[in-house]
Amino acid sequence: MLNSGRFLLHCIQILAIPGAIAAPPLFDSHIHYNADDAALLNPTQVIEHLKRNGIRRALVTSTPFEVVLKLYDQAPDRIIPILGIYRDDQDKRSWYQDKSLPARIEARLNKGVWRGIGELHLFAKHRHSPVFLQIVRLALQRRLPLLIHGDPAVIDSVYDIDPGQTVIWSHAGTYPYPDLIADYLQRYPALYVDLSVRDHRIAPNGKLEDNWFELFLRFPDRFMTGVDTYSPERWRKFDMVVASIRNWLNQLPDDVAMQIRYNNAARLFSIKTRSAGTRPISK
Ligand SMILES: [Zn+2]
Repeated sequence: MLNSGRFLLHCIQILAIPGAIAAPPLFDSHIHYNADDAALLNPTQVIEHLKRNGIRRALVTSTPFEVVLKLYDQAPDRIIPILGIYRDDQDKRSWYQDKSLPARIEARLNKGVWRGIGELHLFAKHRHSPVFLQIVRLALQRRLPLLIHGDPAVIDSVYDIDPGQTVIWSHAGTYPYPDLIADYLQRYPALYVDLSVRDHRIAPNGKLEDNWFELFLRFPDRFMTGVDTYSPERWRKFDMVVASIRNWLNQLPDDVAMQIRYNNAARLFSIKTRSAGTRPISK
């Protein structure tokens, strides 16, 4: 049933292509603009990458935290600043032991434009870190989403504290298996899943895999996509990555694709979506 349904959908989409519809807008849920990226690309060049690829909005974080503000100043309507918690690469490995970190985060949140906290990298064995748990409580108090790149047990630890905390689970977690993700989405209604860097898994050789297709249809309102510029090198591949994301999104029913590529993130960050599905890419 599923395969014949998908085949039909595919045929309809192929027939629809000659209409030359402008590529619909994307909401990127995972961009880094770190100090080493900033050495390579100035804010104007980064915004150009987003515009060229139809990325109307993006969640952007940086190491150190203040770099993203240069981008935000340039394009406050397009950039949604997420408070990065690392000063440098070393922090990425040891932050959960840094007892002074929660106070630093709190001081920055007091000043700011911040719409979320992250990305936090954490293994299951460190999930009881008091520093981590304090940061979860800070996010809760401020009603800010947490972007977490971590094991499933880390997600459990957040929801042990409060089932209402919004978490965006980077890269569909460290074990990106559709069955496991379905269990977590079922269990935790405030959990969202960012699919960045998982494109080859979701659509091996460009074809959307059946288990992922079914997962997206079952939870159409819980997924987001992103490029994840995890290194300066990744910016060189930016257009190619966006093309591969668009390729598998195009294999979904239109309403599901629209939610994943834009509306879910827009809803979470209280951005109007009235015309997000149909308006051509704004330059
Ligand atoms: Zn990342």
